Amino acid sequence: MKTELLSSGMYIGGQWIYKEETIPVLNPQDNSFIASVPQASAKDMQFAIEEAKEGAKIAAQMPVHQRISILNKAANYISERKEKYAETIALEGSKTIREARAEVSRCIQTLQISAEEARRIEGETISFDQREGSEDRVGYYYRFPIGIIAAITPFNDPLNLVAHKVGPAIASGNAIIVKPATETPLSALLLAKAFEESGLPPKVLSVITGYGREIGDILVTHPAVRMVSFTGGLETGEKIANKAGLKKISMELGSNSPVIVLKDADIQEAVNATVSGAFYAVGQNCLGVQRIYIEKEIYEEFCSSFVARTRLYQVGNKMLETTDMGPMINEKEAIRVERWVNEAVYKGATLLTGGKREGAFYFPTVLTNVPADCTIAQQEVFGPVVLLYPVDDFTSAIEKSNDVNFGLQAGIFTKDIEKAFEAIEKLNVGGIMINDSSDYRIDSMPFGGVKGSGLGREGVKYTIQEMTEPRVVSFKLKYKKTI
Ligand code: NAP
Repeated sequence: MKTELLSSGMYIGGQWIYKEETIPVLNPQDNSFIASVPQASAKDMQFAIEEAKEGAKIAAQMPVHQRISILNKAANYISERKEKYAETIALEGSKTIREARAEVSRCIQTLQISAEEARRIEGETISFDQREGSEDRVGYYYRFPIGIIAAITPFNDPLNLVAHKVGPAIASGNAIIVKPATETPLSALLLAKAFEESGLPPKVLSVITGYGREIGDILVTHPAVRMVSFTGGLETGEKIANKAGLKKISMELGSNSPVIVLKDADIQEAVNATVSGAFYAVGQNCLGVQRIYIEKEIYEEFCSSFVARTRLYQVGNKMLETTDMGPMINEKEAIRVERWVNEAVYKGATLLTGGKREGAFYFPTVLTNVPADCTIAQQEVFGPVVLLYPVDDFTSAIEKSNDVNFGLQAGIFTKDIEKAFEAIEKLNVGGIMINDSSDYRIDSMPFGGVKGSGLGREGVKYTIQEMTEPRVVSFKLKYKKTI
């Protein structure tokens, strides 16, 4: 399979810029070279910010019908080249070609939803006369773009998570500078190409490639940048939040999501959903199922069925239609996961299946009896490992689910509507899936977490709210005094 890349330049202010200093993009499966991208410097970032200052003025002036038309054209452009986009995602990242196609479809939808939401950026009238002395006032508020947005994105959804920031930014009349993950910059550059071909005025969007630790600070701390929209790990998110200063911050961070399976659940349905939720994208998924709490009466049956299904997974060449799971993003990450599993086993955990590594490939792994003080019991594993726990009852499952510093999404399998409602109230997370795993999302729902899982919400309409500010207008009218 051969993917011809449109460009390995970076896109700043409407120009494709090449540099002598480059960063190689490697296929994590075999470390083969795919393309190189420029290694941007602080000066390049400064240039991108200067261009975005003009871009913000242009974006704010763009009529809504033009924003809608550009977003729909970009969605169509990608739609006509779906396979090329999917191959790029699969080659540079760790998704299989089937998973990559699903991401492209979602990206197209994200842009289409952005086009629809552009026409719904509305305000409200305000009843000023509720305060004595304000009887002569009428007014309203409406929403204005905030200016320049910095978007910093992770490797695991290299196209759609970029679209989740670029689509709403364009819909709401902002300029945006994207700093994609260094491991997977090509999908973001292809998204820029789609917007260039769709008539987005130059300077509204830049995609700048380079190491976050080298060019991140200047972007995040610059006073002209009015919002930092970050998706990535907790540690990086905290560093950025501490540096950003007085500007809007949106933090979409990680988790170690729990799923509760009660004894009245449909066990097979729960197994199918949780196996898929644990191992989708090699477990490198912010919504991935990491901890499953199973009522003790069905624990043995659940475990054996879960392990049997896990063993069916085909691990291998991600470009093959028959492959269920590809490599992790790099060997270093696979070694980290191996270390965390070995630590758990050393401390007394039981390995039911997996625990094997070959280069960047880590095989789907199921652990039980994991002591609470293990790294893997508390931190986000972000790899294909799942922990199964028997629990005495519902109350204990809720307590254990909440007993971590994350709270993105959770799932519960039960037929008991009372228990489902109690779980909704008591699980401290941003989203709860009843009779499904934590790994469910559509691109228009409010999405985000609590505690170490983040701040703010994405999901096009909600992102637009974060990217705009209300401005209040009050008219003082003389004739009203006389009424
Ligand atoms: P990461 O290591 O935190 O990197 C994310 C982005 O931050 C990359 O573009 C990275 O650039 C950049 N960065 C690193 N240091 C920086 C700095 N000092 N200043 C500015 N930018 C900096 O995360 P990752 O490994 O790519 O992604 C995995 C994490 O993302 C997981 O924790 C996952 O749960 C989370 N995630 C959350 C969501 C959500 O919506 N809640 C969705 C997907 C993923 P370089 O690549 O150049 O280092």
